[in-house]
Amino acid sequence: MIVRISSKFGAVDAVHKTPHMGVDLAKPEGTTLRALGEGVVDRVFDGIGNIGKGLSVQFNDGKRVIYGHMSEVKARIGDNVHAGEIIGFSGNTGNSTGPHLHLGMKGADGSWLDPTPLADKVANINWVDGPLTQMWGLLREKVSEITVDGVVDYIADSAVALPVIAVVGGSVYALINMFSKGAAKWGAIVTVLYGLFIIRLS
Ligand SMILES: [Zn+2]
Repeated sequence: MIVRISSKFGAVDAVHKTPHMGVDLAKPEGTTLRALGEGVVDRVFDGIGNIGKGLSVQFNDGKRVIYGHMSEVKARIGDNVHAGEIIGFSGNTGNSTGPHLHLGMKGADGSWLDPTPLADKVANINWVDGPLTQMWGLLREKVSEITVDGVVDYIADSAVALPVIAVVGGSVYALINMFSKGAAKWGAIVTVLYGLFIIRLS
């Protein structure tokens, strides 16, 4: 599944003045969210405050997972949940600058943990609600994000990365050229396009 992290665990940036105690996963509003294991819903956030709508699930091992900025919560305090069960839908509520899921995790001792390894397990994995919707969402989000500053940044990033892409593209060409000239040309083109695409996403 495609999961794009829009803000990493521990990040300090324009939105997070203090280290970010969770990961932000870019998701189109309405993406189905699921429980990550056996546990009990111990908190439901009503939409007031930074985290917006969301909930917290306490697992049998004492860890807690927190979901924030949801559009709708489908579970209530005290509900028992099982791995894969639908607990609600992602959204853009609270202090959020775009549709995303904030995922946080606390150890049994109350310390914040990095939930990144769970990132690809919280949302649906069927083709309709999963990758297709997410790719479409990513595309819409990328198009809506294009600004003059963004284009200037992109050109600046490309200028820095271009020599690297050129060297990698050249190497791919040389390598494939030992077998086929025609394939080598396409290998180099695809490598360069892929490189440019990666810059756009980073
Ligand atoms: Zn966050």
